[in-house]
Amino acid sequence: MALQTANAGIHYNFINGEWCASSSNQTITNVSPSNTKDVVGVVQKSTLEDLNQAAASAKESEKAWRKLTGNERAAFLYKAADLLEDRIDEVANCMAREMGKSLGESKGETARGVAILRYYAGEGLREVGDVIPSTDPDALMFTTRVPLGVVGVITPWNFPVAIPIWKTAPALIYGNTVVLKPATEAAVTCAKVIECFADAGIPAGVLNMVTGRGAVIGQGMADHSDINGLTFTGSNQVGKQIGQSVLARGGKYQLEMGGKNPVIVASDADIDLAVDATISGGIRSTGQKCTATSRVIIQNEIYEQFKDKLIQKVKNIKVGDSLDEETWMGPSASEGQLNTVLSYIEKGKREGAFLLTGGERLSGPEYDHGFYIEPTVFEGVTNEMTIAQEEIFGPVLALMKVDTLEEGLKLANDVDYGLSASIFTKDIRKMLEFIEEMEAGLVRVNAESAGVELQAPFGGMKQSSSHSREQGQAAKEFFTSIKTVFIK
Ligand code: NAD
Repeated sequence: MALQTANAGIHYNFINGEWCASSSNQTITNVSPSNTKDVVGVVQKSTLEDLNQAAASAKESEKAWRKLTGNERAAFLYKAADLLEDRIDEVANCMAREMGKSLGESKGETARGVAILRYYAGEGLREVGDVIPSTDPDALMFTTRVPLGVVGVITPWNFPVAIPIWKTAPALIYGNTVVLKPATEAAVTCAKVIECFADAGIPAGVLNMVTGRGAVIGQGMADHSDINGLTFTGSNQVGKQIGQSVLARGGKYQLEMGGKNPVIVASDADIDLAVDATISGGIRSTGQKCTATSRVIIQNEIYEQFKDKLIQKVKNIKVGDSLDEETWMGPSASEGQLNTVLSYIEKGKREGAFLLTGGERLSGPEYDHGFYIEPTVFEGVTNEMTIAQEEIFGPVLALMKVDTLEEGLKLANDVDYGLSASIFTKDIRKMLEFIEEMEAGLVRVNAESAGVELQAPFGGMKQSSSHSREQGQAAKEFFTSIKTVFIK
């Protein structure tokens, strides 16, 4: 059923340039984790039939889209960026309500979405290949890049604007068409981003969105023979399964997954800076960032001083409704997420870690209608404990004491993940040793573990990624294939 537009709190799939209800006639209702009485919107519970239609329309439109010049494709991205900028308050408000990110952070993320769109629009006029000297004096040899065809995009709920855009924008500018499946928990916010593309007049079929259950639509995309490349961000468990499915049918895939990110606080660190960055990196967004600081490895000499300052500040964090301007930390994004975090806290206690602050679900009139949790800090955490090894995705910090930097680095690397890591030190030798030894795709010195600038490559080592990179110029590697040309 084709409808004019998304309205009345109901959000439709976007297939072949039209807003459509799912063939299932079933929907999913999203409520706010800040207040479950607040219904944010209703999205489609789609079927494989809906997905097939989206993939068919993406395939159908691929040739004409690829034939446009980069500059012509860029015009749609610039227009979508302008529309998103105009709607920044509306989109940020929706994000804050739907997944509980504070309003300030939600605005920041939406503004970043605008910047990413403009960055990739600029790619429409940049070089796509190299001239390579031939050994034949009568030949011209060069490389060019061609799109993959139809690209599937599967995204998590924790960055509902930035991640769909940082995958979709490069896919489009390099000439691919897209089928996007956002995380159900944040699909209303993502639908608002797609509305910007729709209102920018993107040609029918070039960008499609299908909402629904991961096990149905996500897996359906992984298995779909018309989807030539699939880019996924989410948990390791799901990512590995998707990767195997795409590999089995010879498709191209990219997986960006979890983290267990350390910060090392060296004995010569600026302690106030390290404390603020540890809190910002670990607790902002309720700890729900793949790059969130989780393990805090502190040298003995400054341990007590760092701990005292940290605890004092953590206790003063204002937790509340994500729409409240005073709120620094909103709720967990869902009841399931809250329960996961609480179960990790219980495991921490049971396995012998010492709870310094937090650890409980918040209650009271301000909190009873949402999924609020106290910012939590443990000490006495040893490396074999579950909270030292597994991704928690909540506002939980594990303090670990070491004598030397060497010991700290060993500990920092002794996990399966390798996404991001920080060190706080003024000593250039320590910085260089950290940069050299740290097994992480993103290493930061005197800056929090969370965050990367949009023009720089982003991705993990070890179990955090399929070893590919997103963002900046690195995106070109996934979203295109190199063609080597020889002209005699
Ligand atoms: P998730 O793996 O549960 O879901 C991610 C996406 O996959 C969603 O769209 C979901 O609907 C879909 N999905 C779920 N089950 C599926 C299945 N069986 N088959 C196919 N698709 C399925 O992850 P999440 O809870 O939405 O997000 C949190 C995770 O994402 C964390 O592990 C976090 O570290 C990771 N993450 C990583 C990065 C990064 O860039 N490395 C960025 C943000 C989040």
